[in-house]
Amino acid sequence: MKKILSAFSPSGWQSVSRLGLALAVAVVIGLIAGRVALALAITFGVYSISQVRNALRVEYWLRHRRVETPPDMSGVWGELVTIVSRIYRRKQFHRARVTGLLREFRRLTSAMPEGAVLLGPDHEILWFNGRAGEWLRLRRKRDVGIRIENLVRHPTFIDYLKTGHPSEGAIVQDLETDRWLAFNIVRTGTAERQLLMVRDVSQEQQLQSMRKDFVANASHELRSPLTVISGYLDALADDDNLDPTWSSPVLEMRRQAERMRTIIKDLLELSKLESGEHTQEEQPVDMAGMLALLRKEVMALDERPRNVRLQLDSDALLKGVESELHSIASNLITNAVKYTPTEGEIELRWWVDDAGAHLAVRDTGVGIAEEHIPRLTERFYRVDPGRARSMGGSGLGLAIVKHALQRHEATLQIQSKEGVGSTFTCHFPRARVIPRSTGVLATA
Ligand code: ADP
Repeated sequence: MKKILSAFSPSGWQSVSRLGLALAVAVVIGLIAGRVALALAITFGVYSISQVRNALRVEYWLRHRRVETPPDMSGVWGELVTIVSRIYRRKQFHRARVTGLLREFRRLTSAMPEGAVLLGPDHEILWFNGRAGEWLRLRRKRDVGIRIENLVRHPTFIDYLKTGHPSEGAIVQDLETDRWLAFNIVRTGTAERQLLMVRDVSQEQQLQSMRKDFVANASHELRSPLTVISGYLDALADDDNLDPTWSSPVLEMRRQAERMRTIIKDLLELSKLESGEHTQEEQPVDMAGMLALLRKEVMALDERPRNVRLQLDSDALLKGVESELHSIASNLITNAVKYTPTEGEIELRWWVDDAGAHLAVRDTGVGIAEEHIPRLTERFYRVDPGRARSMGGSGLGLAIVKHALQRHEATLQIQSKEGVGSTFTCHFPRARVIPRSTGVLATA
């Protein structure tokens, strides 16, 4: 009871005490008139009518609260009107704030130089900004709710959306406008929503293709004069009448000409790989046989590490372009030979497991300090430029390996310790493995 009483507000008390007073007056009048029951009934009747009138006033106001001012009432009804008005005012304030923020957000996203598309769990379009609408030719009324794959039908984009890692992104060309668009998924923290960012990378693509064309053309143009120079140098070197003071410079010139030839050959190979077109058809390639042959070639060298071992744990074939797979293996093996002293050793390994097929070239050579490892596949990146040049390398070997691997959906793993040695492992996907039989095949 105490709890109920303490729960009354002052206006509640006011209403209760008014009713109490009315009843007391009714009882007194009833006693004087000798009709207590009638007096009480009239009092209750009047009280009920006033309550219904108040309820109707409040109900009318609630229905028209947008335009009507709150009714002026006392007691519990007055308190009720005050509380409802306060809640309504607060709601209006928050709604105005959210609407303002939304308007600001729309203004900012439409001014954004990038396109943005909000996707639902099934890649259905939930929202997009003006730029995305323009580039992807989306219309709000028609396309919201439609899966983006049905509107942007490029296979590279669909592949990326289905299986790609968000950080990878996809670059596709819009054939209608020739515009190059880069797509990147930004995780929003829930699987329910994904933000797809779209950038116009036409200019970058154009510059890149100009650079590639330039390198390919320049390399091609340099090849013929270099062949002539090499030819004369060879003739000079073979000339018995050559002044002995010229023998050493001619030798050095031949060495440098050979280096230039290697660089040009590698630049042309890299351009071909970058052009994206396979020069040959993909076919099942006998990697075990290829490694055995490459080992033979190394064994025939005058200067090579003492021990070159071959560990073939599978004879499975690998689906790919033979010349590119050969280039991968031969570049890794050439490096192992170049950077391993004659007393060191090299191991070539080929195996297949649940993850796919693997090719590893391990050496006990000079090794590579950790900070260089992430940059090794960059063009012309050399850990020790002096040493690499004296070895006759073009600085493009690992860039070629990386590109050729990418074309086979394969990855390169580099493990190395300075002074201990290095292991370069190529991981090929399972889908490319064509089994013949299993078991250890050969070691040498
Ligand atoms: P290069 O023609 O100079 O060998 P690469 O692209 O093949 O060019 O290799 C880049 C650099 O990586 C090399 O200059 C060398 O410093 C380092 N490197 C590559 N393979 C090895 C290896 N097996 N051992 C030590 N260093 C290596």
